[in-house]
Amino acid sequence: MSQVITNANTTPTRSLTIWRLLQVLVWIVGLVIFLALIFYPSIGLLLFWNILIPVAPALLVVATGVWRNICPLSTTNLLPRHLGLSQKRKLSVTTQSKLQLAAIILLYAIVPLRHLLFNNNGMATAVLLFALSAIGFTMSFIFDWKSAWCSTLCPVHAVEKLYGGNTLVSVPNAHCLECVNCSVPCPDSTPNFHPALVTKNAYQALGSILIIGGLPGFIWGWFHVPDLRTPIHLTDSFEVYQLPIAGFAVSILAYLILQKYFQGKKERQLVSFFAATGVSFYYWYRIPALLGFGKFAQDAVLVNLRGTLPEWSILAMTITTTVFFFSWFLLRKPNQRSWVIRPQFAAKA
Ligand code: SF4
Repeated sequence: MSQVITNANTTPTRSLTIWRLLQVLVWIVGLVIFLALIFYPSIGLLLFWNILIPVAPALLVVATGVWRNICPLSTTNLLPRHLGLSQKRKLSVTTQSKLQLAAIILLYAIVPLRHLLFNNNGMATAVLLFALSAIGFTMSFIFDWKSAWCSTLCPVHAVEKLYGGNTLVSVPNAHCLECVNCSVPCPDSTPNFHPALVTKNAYQALGSILIIGGLPGFIWGWFHVPDLRTPIHLTDSFEVYQLPIAGFAVSILAYLILQKYFQGKKERQLVSFFAATGVSFYYWYRIPALLGFGKFAQDAVLVNLRGTLPEWSILAMTITTTVFFFSWFLLRKPNQRSWVIRPQFAAKA
């Protein structure tokens, strides 16, 4: 049953004020990290790659709408629309589907480069963030609300869709003041949205397979590649892609085979299983690395607790997160919640 809840009186003023404050606060934090990446790279890299990014997957699972409301990139990119400067053009469903597919390819292309460049180079990471922001800002300057970035070309969006299929809460929409149907279906406002829910054209169908089937194996492969440090050679770029691509290929093959047995209503279980596997792989490798117990001693350490914590405690943490995510995705029934509550529809001109 579709939950067509709209915020009939739009978001209450007090709630909107709180969300605006949060947006400003998180945006300032984002700016501080951005400047630190340029001027104090070791601090910036630590804040961005070892604190902000590791928190993000869990937040996407539990409360995707919170992230959609406060993401600093989204706050920047939707500024033209908030200020009434956007040309508010419409994008066709086909074009949006093409952009969504491009975003998935972009995600798989950029993430391995963390080992080659971004993880240890503050300026490169800052340039990447600036470039993504410039593209998003320009797109939102031309097209309406989230249609050209947050719900299409943003490389994180496909991951939001995979992980955010059964979020805990629906929060008020702190961006769109009225719904103009800029994206159909709107990923923010559709209950239990997931990547296989809409596969009406070839781009959507291919994108769905690439992100659901490919992501878990890709994550596994990614964590088996060390950060490469200078001097870096051209041949190194093959090295950082090899294992992620191999993992991607194996898991996509498994997904395509299993798809035959999980059709119709069962399809959702398969999507949930792959989502649980992907996010569990992430924390299985990320938590030990952050605490100094990673496979590659120098990489991604937030605080080195080797010698302080017993090894079994790390295993206990990773088993706990794995059990949590598999229970979250596979034991909870779809709760008919969307990421955010749709604002009232705009009056037709
Ligand atoms: S709520 Fe409406 S205006 Fe906002 S992103 Fe969704 S479809 Fe677009």
